[in-house]
Amino acid sequence: MKKETQCIHSGYKSKNGEPMALPIFQSTTFTYDSTDDIGRLFDLKGEGHMYSRISNPTVAYYEKKLAEMEGGIAAVCTVSGQSAVFVSLFNILSCGDHFVTGSKIYGGTTNLFAVTMKRMGIDCTFVDLDSDDETIQKAFRPNTKALFGETLANPSLEVLDIERIAKIAHKNGVPFIVDNTFPTPVLCNPIKYGADIIVHSTTKYLDGHALQVGGAVIDSGNFNWEGGKYPGLTEPDESYHGVVYTKTFGNAAYANKLRAQLIRDFGLCPPAISVFLTDMGTQTLGVRMKVHCNNAMRAAEFFEKSDKIEKVIYPGLKSSEYYALAMKYLPKGQSGVLSVIFKEGRKAGIKFMDSLSLARNVVHVADIRTLVLHPASETHRQLTDEQLKAAGISPGLVRISVGIEDIEDITADFEQALRAVQV
Ligand SMILES: *Cc1c(COP(=O)(O)O)cnc(C)c1O
Repeated sequence: MKKETQCIHSGYKSKNGEPMALPIFQSTTFTYDSTDDIGRLFDLKGEGHMYSRISNPTVAYYEKKLAEMEGGIAAVCTVSGQSAVFVSLFNILSCGDHFVTGSKIYGGTTNLFAVTMKRMGIDCTFVDLDSDDETIQKAFRPNTKALFGETLANPSLEVLDIERIAKIAHKNGVPFIVDNTFPTPVLCNPIKYGADIIVHSTTKYLDGHALQVGGAVIDSGNFNWEGGKYPGLTEPDESYHGVVYTKTFGNAAYANKLRAQLIRDFGLCPPAISVFLTDMGTQTLGVRMKVHCNNAMRAAEFFEKSDKIEKVIYPGLKSSEYYALAMKYLPKGQSGVLSVIFKEGRKAGIKFMDSLSLARNVVHVADIRTLVLHPASETHRQLTDEQLKAAGISPGLVRISVGIEDIEDITADFEQALRAVQV
C-alpha cells in the first residue's frame, strides 16, 4: 500500500460484525481464565495484554500502523516524544556509556542529552552531522553505543544525509537512531537508507490537530546486537527469569526489551483515548502533508521577496544548501516548517510575531493551524549562545509552521505583519 492508504488502513482492521473505527479499550487491566495464562504473560511467553501501564490493545493497533508506515518490524508508543527519544537510547545504554549526536537538534532533546542523561552517567558528544566523515569519526570512543540525528532538524531545518551517517554508525558497530518527526513517515522512511531505530514525537503532524502529546520508537529489526556491546539484549534479564531478548525475540529483541523493561518500569504506555485521537489525526496525514508542503513552499517564496528578511530557510528552495539532499530524501515535499531570519534581528522578529493575527504565537509546531515561534526566547531559551549557534539558530530567527488554511489568507497575514516591522 502507498503511504496515504497506510495512514487509513494499516493497524486496526475490523472483522465480521466489529466496529469499523478503532475501538478505545478503556481498561487498566485484562481478564484471563487461569493463573497459568497470566503467568505465561509474566514470562513473556504468551501474546496478550496484562496491564495498561505496559501495553493496551488500542495502542497496539496504532503501533502496528506506525511500524508498517516506517517499514519497521515493531513500534512502541510512549507518552511523549521526549520519553521516546530517552528510551530509544536508554534501552541500549547504561551508566558509563557514551553516544554521539548531531548538534542541530530539538532544544528539548539537547537538554535531555546535555544535562539529564549526563546525570545518569551517560555521556554524549555533540557533532555537526554536516561535517566530513573524519570529523564525525573523531567523536567516537571505545564506549560509544549509538549515533543519533534528526532527519529534518527542528528548527534549523538541516536535512540529514541519512545514508552517509548510517554508514559511519555501522562502521563503528553502533545503531543509527533517527528522529523522523518533521518529515513524518509519509515524506521519508529513514530505515530505507540505513537507519536502525526511528523515533517520533506523534504530538506533531501524526496528531496534527494540537490534541495529544505522544511519542513512538520504531525498530527496523535490521541491527545485529550480538558481539558483546549490548549485553542487555544478549545476556539474561534477571527481571524476567533470565530471558535473553535476542534469543526469545530474534530481530525484534530491541522493541521487546524496550516494552518489557522500560515501558514497564517507567510507566510510559500512553492512554488508549490519547492514541485513539492521535490515530484519527494520522488517518488524514497523507492529504494534510501535501497541503502543508505546498503551502510552506509558497510561504517560503513569499518571504524570499521581502526586503526585511535576511534569509529564508526551507530545504525545498533552490537557494537552500540542503536542496540536493532534500530532493534525495524528501522528494515528495519538504514538510511544512520554515524559518526566516530578520535583517534587524531579535526585535524585528518579535515585532513581526506580535503583529500576526491569523497565525498563532504558540509553543507548538506541525499543526493544521499556522503557528509561529521565536526559538531564542522560547523553546531554546535554556541554551547558551554557543549552543544556539551549534543548533543553527540566530536571535532573529522565527520558526513558521505553515498550516493548511488557504495560502492567500496565510500570506496576507504575513504581509500585514511585515508592514508593522520597521526597517
Ligand atoms: C517536539 C519534538 C520532540 C519532543 O516531543 P514531545 O512530544 O514534545 O515530547 C522531539 N523531537 C522533535 C524533532 C520534536 O519536534
